[in-house]
Amino acid sequence: QKRQLNKLKNTAATTADEVNIQILANIESPADINAAHKLSIDGVGLFRSEFLFLNRDTLPSEEEQYEIYLDAIKKMKGKPLTIRTVDLGVDKNPRWLNHNDTLNPALGLTGIRLCLAEPVMFRTQMRAILRAAVHGPIRILWPMIGSLTELRQCHSHLELVKQQLTERSQEFESNVAVGCMIEVPSAALMVVSLLKLVDFLSIGTNDLIQYTLAVDRSDDTVSHLYQPAHPAVLKLLTHVIRSAIKANKPISVCGEMAGDDRYTRLLLGLGLRQFSMHPSNILRVKNMIVHSNTDEIEKQIWRILRNDDPNKVDDLLKKLNHIEP
Ligand code: PEP
Ligand code: MG
Repeated sequence: QKRQLNKLKNTAATTADEVNIQILANIESPADINAAHKLSIDGVGLFRSEFLFLNRDTLPSEEEQYEIYLDAIKKMKGKPLTIRTVDLGVDKNPRWLNHNDTLNPALGLTGIRLCLAEPVMFRTQMRAILRAAVHGPIRILWPMIGSLTELRQCHSHLELVKQQLTERSQEFESNVAVGCMIEVPSAALMVVSLLKLVDFLSIGTNDLIQYTLAVDRSDDTVSHLYQPAHPAVLKLLTHVIRSAIKANKPISVCGEMAGDDRYTRLLLGLGLRQFSMHPSNILRVKNMIVHSNTDEIEKQIWRILRNDDPNKVDDLLKKLNHIEP
């Protein structure tokens, strides 16, 4: 099977009925990019920038970040690079953030909340990104957005950053695409409004599942309740993906679900055409895509979406994964 998968390295992810699917990589540092290119990626859908902020006592400077984003965009060879602004506070706690005695870190000062609470850190990062964007197509992705208010605040900071760079006469790209993660149920429910303020969306299913089902994604005692295809999760995914399609804005999934081939057909059936995943999952997901037929899946998907029993949904999914293209 490994040899068969290896044949897909240079193959585009096109379904049996000729629908082109974009395969994007999730990376944690620029060093991951070259290996991802060998799998014929269409870009990077999620560059987790946290590594820059961890294992150190001080914040990274604008110059330090600029050098790293510049290195990354050069390695992209013209393909888009989506940089997520720093997403700290839950499992990833830097030393400079005194955060360890919080009772519910996942519900606390995390993701964009922390960025907005530390505006100098937030704006420093965005200045470095806009400067690097002169050298290739970079997109900015804001994590853990929970409301329209937060999204508006992000835009204000971005505007201020552009003003600062202009005043400094520094070269930067002002026309950078901005998007937000949909990983909090409030954002999924408000997606039609959020869409008016962004160029693209990316669904973080790891957190979206956690927050929708109130199941800690890292707690083994409740891992049996962590069900990606739970009907409640599917309702939110359906709403978000269809709303983005209707608004004509690109939408991807960048949580683990996108890299798990048990859910590839399900996501195709919901209309998803961009999958962002850890490079180690790319060939398996590509294999599923080239052996799938979106017309066939669409004929079956309503059965899954109208079922309200998580176990029956799992059975139906297994059936869906076995139909011949
Ligand atoms: C997610 O929540 O699905 C996601 C991609 O972000 P992270 O796993 O970094 O929280
Ligand atoms: Mg997340």
